[in-house]
Parts: sequence; structure tokens; C-alpha cells
Amino acid sequence: MNFKDLGLEPELLSAISAHGYSTPTPIQAEAIPPVLAGRDLLAGAQTGTGKTAAFVLPLLQLLHASSGRAPRALVLAPTRELAAQILESIRVYGANKALRSRVIFGGVGEKPQIDGLRAGCDILVATPGRLLDLANRGLANLSEIRHLVLDEADRMLDMGFIHDIRRIIKLLPPKRQNLMFSATYTPDIRALAARILVNPAQVEVTPPNSTVDRVVQLAFRVAKDDKRHLLVHLFKNGANGEGRWQQALVFTRTKHGANRLAEQLERAGIRSAAIHGNKSQAARTRALADFKAGRLTALVATEVASRGLDIRELPQVVNYDMPHVPEDYVHRIGRTARAGNDGHAVSLVSSDEASLLRDIERTMRQAVPFSPTPEFARADNAPAAQHRSAAQHRAAPQHRPAPSRSAAPRARSWSHGRR
Ligand code: AMP
Repeated sequence: MNFKDLGLEPELLSAISAHGYSTPTPIQAEAIPPVLAGRDLLAGAQTGTGKTAAFVLPLLQLLHASSGRAPRALVLAPTRELAAQILESIRVYGANKALRSRVIFGGVGEKPQIDGLRAGCDILVATPGRLLDLANRGLANLSEIRHLVLDEADRMLDMGFIHDIRRIIKLLPPKRQNLMFSATYTPDIRALAARILVNPAQVEVTPPNSTVDRVVQLAFRVAKDDKRHLLVHLFKNGANGEGRWQQALVFTRTKHGANRLAEQLERAGIRSAAIHGNKSQAARTRALADFKAGRLTALVATEVASRGLDIRELPQVVNYDMPHVPEDYVHRIGRTARAGNDGHAVSLVSSDEASLLRDIERTMRQAVPFSPTPEFARADNAPAAQHRSAAQHRAAPQHRPAPSRSAAPRARSWSHGRR
């Protein structure tokens, strides 16, 4: 199967090959033909599957060339990062097409966005809040929209955007093509799909709630207070003899926790930045650019900030705090092992988080094996007497024994092929 077999036009085929893609991913192979045929689509696809190109490519073809000032395609996305990344994909794949694309999101000045809309736009990518605001003030004209995409629809619902989405949809012409992408199928998602989509083609590239297969997962038992010391050890020595980590995305539960951990890592000599909803857009963009360029070793992120982050060849994800919702674990580890690369996900599990890991394993129907916690030093000027070895940690009373596993741990080696 190649892109040509999907019915894509030469301008798109040359942009795809210039970008280095030779074969469509499964979601692209399944979704592009029905979208080109004008059908509505319900796609179950996790991030990392190539889902962006699965809607961007056919949209670029369906829109032909630019016309009028009001946008004809609208892509709604949950976060600014994802919206910016979709715009980037549109520009890459649409390099040989005369189409104008713009992005709109909150947290930055609105004037350039308003000016951009006035200048004319064919494809508009937006987060719901800012778009609704501009539309209500008559600054975004949605009356010409013929194609609507809801990307990461499950996340938009999680983030409370359902009312904004409904209001936006009321502003659109009723006759249009609707595409909806979601990693999970909750009852809310099904209800939204039933309301918006008309006789949709349905494609699903991974069963709902299953994790990215190529991610090698591993957990360490560690006391909460020692997590940061273990993490420093892992950055400097690797998780299993693979050597110093060059680049790792670390998840914390709270914004405050992300800030604190980034500072602690910095103090331990690991170049770090935090990325979360309280940071300005400029700070988030800068941190991401520094991380991508290798100027930062650690990017400490909260759940929301992680959505849509597309960092090529990200080898390592760390769950510093275990997520409370099992699906979040899947999204987090989906940041690595993207587009055919392999990846590694390490979870630091304190005794009070053991049940969270069990829920995750049940949801994924897959075990996350524990590895022996390596010896690590407690830095931060802790008196020597306070140093506790990993063996002591394992013996510590607050650590319950390993939960019994229904499935056998996967016997995959912990090798970092790309280094
Ligand atoms: P997405 O799921 O859309 O976020 O895409 C995940 C990653 O896969 C991105 O880095 C894309 O650039 C990359 N990608 C998308 N389509 C292909 C393809 N056909 N071949 C190789 N990489 C791809």
C-alpha cells in the first residue's frame, strides 16, 4: 500500500515524499479514502498513529485552492500545543497547495489572530474557548464551514469543552462533512458522535484503551520522598544499564509539582523546564523548542500540557506521579514510540500508588513489570545517616509486596536502540 493507492493528488504526494514518508500508517490507509469520498468519519486512534495526516491530507485535497475570506474547514483541538502542531502539519503537507491556514488559541494576544482571519483563511485550527469568543464578537465567520474535524474529542470533553463545542456547532452550516477522532470511546463520546455524525465510516486502528505496543514499560517501587533522588539517578545512569538519558518527558500531577521538580532536577545538574497551563504560551513554546533541540534534558509536564506534544524520537517517558485515570497513562506513554520508533516508559510507584498501577494494568490488559529499584544516593545535602539504600526501601514497611499479576510481565529487553 502506498499513498498513491489512497487517491491522493500529485501535489500532496510530492509533499508527503519530500517529508520522508513512504507508507501510509493504518489510520491513514483506512481513513483517507472515505474522507476523500466526502463521508463523515468516526476514528478510534491514539496519538502517535499518524492521525493528523489522516484528516489533513484529504481536507487539503477536498478544498482544492483558496477561495473567499471565510474558512471552509474547521479543526477543533483541545490544547494550544496540539492546535499549533496541526497547523504545522497542514503547512507541511499543503506546501504545494495554495491554501491559507490559521490557528487560534487562548493565552496569547488576539490581534494577530483577528488580523489573520481578516486577511483570509481556508483552514482554521482552533481551541474551542478562544474561537467561540471571537465568533460571538463577530470576528470569526463560521458560516462557510463545510468540513469540521474534532481532534482528540475525548480530551476536549475531559477538559470541559462540550458546551463550547455545542455552541460552535450551532454557528456552522448544517450541511457539512464531520470527522471525529478519539482515543477512547466513552458514553459521552458516543453521544457526541451520534449527535454530530451522519452515517459515518468507522475506523479503528487500536482497540480502545489498549496501549501503544512498542513501548517497553517498567516500574520501580520507591518512597514518595525519594522519587526525586531516584529520578536524578535514572537521568545520570539510565534505568537498566543503557546509560545517561539524553531526553526524557516527565509527568507530574500538579503544576506546582512540575515547577518544583524542574527546579530540583536543575539543582542536580539536569537541564530542565516545566510546561503546564499556568505558563505563558511564550514560555511553553520556548521550553518545547529547547527540549526538541536538545538544550534541555528533562521536560516536566502536567497531563494537559502533554496533549499534542509531538517530539520525534522521544526515547523516554517517566511517570513521576502515577495518573489517577488509567487512560491518562496510555496518553502519557503514547508520547514515546511514535511512528514506528520504540520507546520506554518508567513509572515511579510509591506504596499509595500501587492500586493506581493495578487499575492501569487492568485497563490495558497488560502487566507493567517491576524492576529492582537501583541503589541511588540522596542528594540535596541530606545527612549521610538519612541515606537509605534501595534494598532498605524494598524492605521498608510502607512498601507492600508486589501486586500479583494476572498476565506475565513482558520479557522485552531494555535496550535503547537509537543511542
Ligand atoms: P500523529 O498521530 O498525527 O500525532 O503523528 C505521529 C507522528 O507520526 C508524527 O511525528 C508524524 O509526523 C508521523 N507520521 C505521520 N504519518 C506518517 C507516515 N505515513 N510515515 C511516517 N511517519 C508518519
